[in-house]
Amino acid sequence: MKRVLVVEHSNFFAMVIKNKLQTEAHFYVTWAKNLSEAVKELNKNTDFLAAVLDFSLPDAPEGEIIDEVINKGIPSIVFTSNISKKIHKFVNSKKIVDYILKDDPNSIDYLISLLKRLESNPDTKILVVDDSPLFRKTITDLLKNHRYSVFNACNGKEALKVLDEHPDIKLVITDFNMPEMDGYILTQKIREKYSKDELAIIGISSEGNGYMAARFLKYGANDFIVKQTFITEEFYCRVILHLDTLKRLQAIKNAAIKDFLTGLYNRRYFFEFGQKLFESAKRDNLSLGCAMIDVDHFKKINDTYGHKAGDLVLQQVSSILKNRMRGTDIIARIGGEEFCVLTVNLKEKDAKKVFETLRQTVEDSPVEIDDGEKIKVTISIGVVTELADSLEDMLKKADSLLYEAKKTGRNKVIVNKP
Ligand code: GH3
Ligand code: MG
Ligand code: MG
Repeated sequence: MKRVLVVEHSNFFAMVIKNKLQTEAHFYVTWAKNLSEAVKELNKNTDFLAAVLDFSLPDAPEGEIIDEVINKGIPSIVFTSNISKKIHKFVNSKKIVDYILKDDPNSIDYLISLLKRLESNPDTKILVVDDSPLFRKTITDLLKNHRYSVFNACNGKEALKVLDEHPDIKLVITDFNMPEMDGYILTQKIREKYSKDELAIIGISSEGNGYMAARFLKYGANDFIVKQTFITEEFYCRVILHLDTLKRLQAIKNAAIKDFLTGLYNRRYFFEFGQKLFESAKRDNLSLGCAMIDVDHFKKINDTYGHKAGDLVLQQVSSILKNRMRGTDIIARIGGEEFCVLTVNLKEKDAKKVFETLRQTVEDSPVEIDDGEKIKVTISIGVVTELADSLEDMLKKADSLLYEAKKTGRNKVIVNKP
């Protein structure tokens, strides 16, 4: 559980924040009532995901708490009851994550969403491309303040290399004017490989004008920022906007290709992608195998323990499948209690071992249902490890081996025709 430091003078407000963060978001809260208590806490421990700071405390009325916490490297969110121009400027210059108005009715929900983002941001990779070391550092520091994983490049060519090494980079922030390869060409090159659903690009330049913005956008950037008019708060808003859009697009994509109950690929995606995999295996003479997996006497489990228990069984079998198979394998739920796995480069001898272990793991992991009762579950598996004339042929062969396993006692693996 991640720990959050809350420095808040009002007992009532502190109690509300603490309660919400602990019960709704599962953060552990350390509460300090004023600056001196906060200093004591920080002397004991600085391992906080973030700090939530009241701008005005009795022993630190002018935001002195902010420096105290930021200097310990803790991302800080400032709570304030009013936001005068002076406070706004002060707060923006202090490298804080964000500020929140206390009397906004959504303030706590907003705080929770901010903290959750800070928690997951280390998994989000961002590439900053600029030939000016100073500007690279400015942007990098801002992003690191929000705990993103940041990569750097000093021109377009280098940026493409970094992207090749980290194809899961989600956002590229690129300058226009750079030696070797400028921001326009870099944007074009990135778009040849990555669509707007996969990666966002923000163009940035000191000599920014409307034409430059338009060209960046036409070449495939999602946004454009001018260096001179650069405001930290606006920068963060844009970064978050584009990353959130990507996340939403990914969720829609997942909903279309994944099975809701188990999170495995669905039947449609399996046949679509499986066909492509089959064709490329045929063309390049690669080894592709196929396993049909079916839960034994599943109807009886439903009839005895109810449909909900049946669903739990399907979820557990799926999670064992995910854990046991390799990342390159395609695992799908293709029917009610039927699963199919396409294996890449798995020889007959190894297939026997892998699927036998899978069968044994399912047998050894009874599923605990709501009333604590444990249900014994077994599966039968038919596997082919040789390419056939078509994907349908392979599935048919695996299916007939599965039928054989069912007929000869179930809880059994049969690999290739004996
Ligand atoms: P066998 O050992 O021969 O495979 O017998 P079986 O009972 O497992 O096979 P059968 O095909 O007769 O039964 C499959 C059952 O799966 C029937 C159906 O109601 C149930 N089922 C299909 N989809 C779902 C689902 O999403 N959730 C639950 N709980 N049950 C499902
Ligand atoms: Mg079955
Ligand atoms: Mg069945």
